[in-house]
Amino acid sequence: VANIVQAVHKNSLDFTKIPINMLPTVVLVGRPNVGKSALFNRFIRRREALVYNTPDDHVTRDIREGVAKLGDLRFVVLDSSGLETAVSSGSILERTAKMTEKVLLKCQLAIFLIDARAGLHPFDLEVGKWLRRHVPDINILVAMNKSESLIDCSGTLLAAGFEAERLGFGDPVPISAETGLGMHDLYLAIKPVLEKYMLEVINDNGGLDRFHQVTGSNEDEDTQDSKVQLQLAIVGRPNVGKSTLLNTLLQSDRVLVGPEAGLTRDSVRAQFEFEGRTIYLVDTAGWLHRTKEEKGPSSLSVMQSTKNLMRAHVVALVLDAEEIARERRSMKHAEVVIARRAVEEGRGLVIIVNKMDLMRGRKNSASYEKILEAVPEEVQTVIPQVTGIPVIFISALEGRGRLAVMRQVVETYEKWCLRLSTARLNRWLRKVMSRHSWKDQSAQPKVKYFTQVKARPPTFVAFVSGKTRLSDTDIRFLTKSLKEDFDLGGIPIRIMQRAVL
Ligand code: GDP
Ligand code: GDP
Repeated sequence: VANIVQAVHKNSLDFTKIPINMLPTVVLVGRPNVGKSALFNRFIRRREALVYNTPDDHVTRDIREGVAKLGDLRFVVLDSSGLETAVSSGSILERTAKMTEKVLLKCQLAIFLIDARAGLHPFDLEVGKWLRRHVPDINILVAMNKSESLIDCSGTLLAAGFEAERLGFGDPVPISAETGLGMHDLYLAIKPVLEKYMLEVINDNGGLDRFHQVTGSNEDEDTQDSKVQLQLAIVGRPNVGKSTLLNTLLQSDRVLVGPEAGLTRDSVRAQFEFEGRTIYLVDTAGWLHRTKEEKGPSSLSVMQSTKNLMRAHVVALVLDAEEIARERRSMKHAEVVIARRAVEEGRGLVIIVNKMDLMRGRKNSASYEKILEAVPEEVQTVIPQVTGIPVIFISALEGRGRLAVMRQVVETYEKWCLRLSTARLNRWLRKVMSRHSWKDQSAQPKVKYFTQVKARPPTFVAFVSGKTRLSDTDIRFLTKSLKEDFDLGGIPIRIMQRAVL
């Protein structure tokens, strides 16, 4: 058993090699319209599956089943529309409830979805009660769906999170089934539960080796990731100079580019060292070896880029200075989409303005100055959630800016990983709370203490006592103060609040 435990902890438990009939089962539950189908579709990656908008459709829907992929995890996922109908008062539906109960008893985990925008609904409480009564032994994880527009200092999301505590199933994970936001957090929350279960199954079935013999190899690119320190994604539209920049970066101390075992032949992974640190480039293969003719339309590139964001710690978005000067705006739609997505996913973001060499010379010197000034401003305007996003100006062609880019990437990564002690945070909190001008002194929320619950990205919880919660404005103020006082520019910070007596 010790060996198995070790194997699992070293990440050598390869879910891709577990036969489907032995995979753990996860069921999606929740009232109608919270987004179960949307999450189901994301898990099984069958985008063409339909998502209906009317609660009425649920009556006709069966429980759907599929094999889900989430990072290096594999599990069987069930979309249970039965439960919701069961709890929406009506005795004809008792049968469905029975069926749902039977299904639930087979599962190792239920993801209980609620709607972050709507807040806690009476039905949610009913579903919660039902679950506790009928399947008390199942692991339950609450996910706040539809959080995409509410992340980072939004009172609505926080209120929903605050309320979700009332369900009594622990900290809710903010996600968006539609945009994919929060999938990494969901992964982190699910992983220990599924691993623990697999450990037991493996134990009952004669050890890990047998498991890994059972099925053929099913390569998984994601499993490598945990071993590497800093994962950097260089993203951007075609022709902005990503490949050129990459080549400059790879002229570093030590370069390792080679075919990756288990991946397709033309897939390449690159990693290099910078000032003693290993930098790992997330899936640059897509455009590294492509010829000009093979470069697709920009929409394709955006899709590929956003896919890669999930696995990166820091995202470097490359813009083209010449284009900016020509079009008189810093970011095209596709670029705004990528940047917002990076922020929503909680990645560190660095903006790189390339081809600055073209802005030199007499004809262009005005543009040069203008770009230096305008880009940081415009970036701030289109991504207001995160203040102080760093902007670096380079010429990849001339090999200028490599150091600046890499120093900024490393700095952003370090801030992204930052952990502040509770003692330090509470000293800070006392100072900052006295600085804040409260609208209504008598209704001032009492923040008992403030603590960082996780890094990568920094996530904090404010423990609030009494009846008053922190408002939108309060949270924004705290976020801003945290960023200023601890120099966290460009890092998406999350603050949640919880009630204490
Ligand atoms: P179900 O009844 O729980 O299966 O919910 P569906 O998956 O059918 O989703 C209900 C509605 O919510 C649909 O209109 C979806 O497009 C929408 N929806 C699902 N997930 C999200 C999300 O993450 N964000 C937003 N804004 N809408 C979502
Ligand atoms: P990618 O599609 O983003 O990988 O872009 P490439 O690296 O292939 O570059 C597209 C074109 O822009 C090529 O012709 C490069 O030579 C050119 N280019 C890249 N960086 C620079 C730069 O800093 N200055 C100038 N003038 N041209 C550049």
